[in-house]
Amino acid sequence: MHKLITIMVPTYNEDQVIEQFYDRINDVTNGINNYEFELLFVNDGSEDSTLSIIKKLRNTDNRVSYVDLSRNFGKEIAMLAGFDYAKGEAVIIIDADLQDPPELITDMIHYWEQGYDDVYAKRSDRQGETWLKKWTSKNFYKVLKKTSSIPIQEDTGDFRLLDQRCVNALRKLRESQRYTKGLFSWLGFKKKEILFNRDPRAGGETKWNYPKLINLAIEGITSFTTYPLKLSSYLGVIISLGAFIYMLFVIFKTIVFGESVTGYPSLMSVILFLGGIQLLSLGVIGEYLGRIFNETKKRPVYLVQEYNDKKDLVIHENK
Ligand code: UDP
Ligand code: MG
Repeated sequence: MHKLITIMVPTYNEDQVIEQFYDRINDVTNGINNYEFELLFVNDGSEDSTLSIIKKLRNTDNRVSYVDLSRNFGKEIAMLAGFDYAKGEAVIIIDADLQDPPELITDMIHYWEQGYDDVYAKRSDRQGETWLKKWTSKNFYKVLKKTSSIPIQEDTGDFRLLDQRCVNALRKLRESQRYTKGLFSWLGFKKKEILFNRDPRAGGETKWNYPKLINLAIEGITSFTTYPLKLSSYLGVIISLGAFIYMLFVIFKTIVFGESVTGYPSLMSVILFLGGIQLLSLGVIGEYLGRIFNETKKRPVYLVQEYNDKKDLVIHENK
């Protein structure tokens, strides 16, 4: 019996690239002997013809299986669905848009066989991305690294091979507001880094826009560190101290020089400044409170419309 490896592909409106993707994957897997593959597509509520293309692929290739989610849940949750349904002894997560070169899979399997549990691909270069995206991403990682208690891998996406033990662990982490990249780090286990150049998209459009990215960034920070909460306490302490010293000064001044009704501008600026900080801190508390609220509802993280297993009848061309 050959070991089964699941290649998991979260897909959302990818009908322009999915066939091209399949061809590339096919070339790679045909070049790898001694393993059996499952090609698990997670259709994340696509509104285009992605699902029918997947079904067509499944008719001609019995390695193809798919989970069709009831609506668009976002890539993070689509990946959880993929972990739940993956059958392989290892799971490879790969984007459908060919930004992650499937050719790396061979290397990943090689390191997996050497005993690594999490073989992740690190981008050495980001082609086809604007300087603003590169800059924001770089600084985001900086902040996250500084404030979080677990090591975060920089410039690393979700493109990786995970051993079964990682996948089993990830199945247990059922938070609904997920920052999967951080979860990989949180897991620990033996990690191995391989470098690659990230290509531009083969077709179609990125599903990320700045509001979505900012959201993911907040997700990343709030689910891995309570540093912002601490920051508001620190700010509170510093400002109260300053206010106390200023109060002594004002009392002293009034006693020695008497009182005069001036100081409207300074009063105004202090009130506005403090008001701003208070609102900001409330917002930070609100972020965390909202997260608690969402998790306590204990809703299922996603719902499945349809699951179709890979067909068991296995025909090998090269045997
Ligand atoms: N994706 C998904 N659900 C979403 C958005 C994206 O499953 O709501 C999939 C998408 O089909 C692709 C992968 O996640 O396979 C990465 O998405 P994208 O290429 O848009 O992100 P980028 O590479 O620009 O970070
Ligand atoms: Mg992409």
